Amino acid sequence: MTDTPTQLFIGGAWVDAADGATMPVDDPATGEIIAHVADAGPKDARLAEEAAVRAQEEWARTAPRARSEILRRAYEIILDRTDELAHLMTSEMGKPLAEARGEVAYAAEFFRWFSEEAVRIDGGGGILPDGRNRMLLSRRPVGPCLLITPWNFPLAMGTRKIGPAIAAGCTMILKPAPQTPLSSLALTAILKEAGLPDGVLNVVTTSRAGEVCEPLLRGGRIRKLSFTGSTAVGRLLLAQSAEAVVRTSMELGGNAPFIVFEDADLDKAVDGAMLAKMRNMGEACTAANRFFVHHSVAEEFGRRLAERMGALVIGPGTRDGVDVGPLIDRTGRAKVEELVADAVERGARVLVGGRTPEGPGCFYPPTVLADVDAGSRLMDTEIFGPVAAILTFDHEDEVIRRANDTPWGLVGYVFTEGLDRALRVSERLEVGMVGLNTGLVSNPAAPFGGVKQSGLGREGGRVGIDEFLEYQYLAVPVG
Ligand code: NAP
Repeated sequence: MTDTPTQLFIGGAWVDAADGATMPVDDPATGEIIAHVADAGPKDARLAEEAAVRAQEEWARTAPRARSEILRRAYEIILDRTDELAHLMTSEMGKPLAEARGEVAYAAEFFRWFSEEAVRIDGGGGILPDGRNRMLLSRRPVGPCLLITPWNFPLAMGTRKIGPAIAAGCTMILKPAPQTPLSSLALTAILKEAGLPDGVLNVVTTSRAGEVCEPLLRGGRIRKLSFTGSTAVGRLLLAQSAEAVVRTSMELGGNAPFIVFEDADLDKAVDGAMLAKMRNMGEACTAANRFFVHHSVAEEFGRRLAERMGALVIGPGTRDGVDVGPLIDRTGRAKVEELVADAVERGARVLVGGRTPEGPGCFYPPTVLADVDAGSRLMDTEIFGPVAAILTFDHEDEVIRRANDTPWGLVGYVFTEGLDRALRVSERLEVGMVGLNTGLVSNPAAPFGGVKQSGLGREGGRVGIDEFLEYQYLAVPVG
């Protein structure tokens, strides 16, 4: 967008960082710098915190319908600007324009969903069992929140947190990832245009995440942390949140198993694999990381998947007809290269891809590896790239045990035509979400989240707003 803001947003005003610092944002397809944005430090964080704390009381008293209508207006503006937002996202993050447009729609949908939830915050109550007392229950906003988002879905990870926070009546500070601040700043401008009062949303873009966030978490005035990112950083933030007993929601990493049984419809399984693996170039927490395929169909599944993956067009996301954009940066690509090299050293066969192309940009080709050794590093590391690693299995119990043999538990995918098996296996997988004969689970109306070290709490769905609300119980004697 030609007029995308590049400053911090504090108390309803666009401002420079207190020390004047800026940081570059580059295009991963070319390596060229496309903008400089304000680089906040601890002083800016304090100002943002003051603005959020100051605005909290009045915002909590705002009529739910008014909060709902701000979200609804923002939803409509986002959709009207789909093309501009998609171009902006592609330029800072790399995903192909068609996927960026899809993310804009997905991101907007969280605002529509939570505009509908804002007016359905219920309480409860009744006569207590002793007959002498009654209780009145109300639900109140938890208070000022810190929202920390990753770079892989620059708009949707923001709206998935901002939407319920606004609906619940919380004020907030958003800290987007430094690779993709522009989408968040454009979103902020839209919320201002939609009538969000000053101080409700404050945005600090920064390259100094630790210095900016730690004092906020330990300070005692931020009452809620909603974080999406890696398990390692989530663990650190949980420790920091413990001091002031900050309530937390954690959407962390995954290591999704993708299981194809011998009775699966292989057309469906390959379609599902393309979605579960290649959405966002594999840079998704929901990405299938370990393909367990029954030995009787593994050769055929691998052949068909390699054919589909090999036909994808790689290039800058802004170019027509491109299916696979660059990875986010050179570090991300180097990690993928190392994981593939390790698997190959341990005996994996490269069915397609596996070779980094020459030239500028952080491109990596769609890759399928067969006969992957279970001890390969990519079995217990999020690949975060377009690499499908196939292992074989013989029995149902065995594959369930191997699928669950990981500290993560975000999502699993199961492909079988047998109803009993589908339900039995899904119920035994230690994950928060299952794609049954489908490679896509994300939907704003469904509760998204994981178990084990994939996170705490859920985003979206009917329960998404609960993360931003507290109960208050009033004890009232029956007169
Ligand atoms: P990351 O390195 O954990 O960073 C996520 C966010 O945390 C960024 O904004 C980052 O800023 C910030 N951060 C890092 N250290 C921090 C600190 N000490 N204090 C405060 N903030 C800090 O993860 P990523 O590489 O951007 O994103 C990929 C990860 O996110 C993957 O593991 C993926 O599975 C996960 N993810 C999960 C979900 C889900 O819903 N479960 C969705 C999307 C992504 P800096 O970069 O400046 O450090």
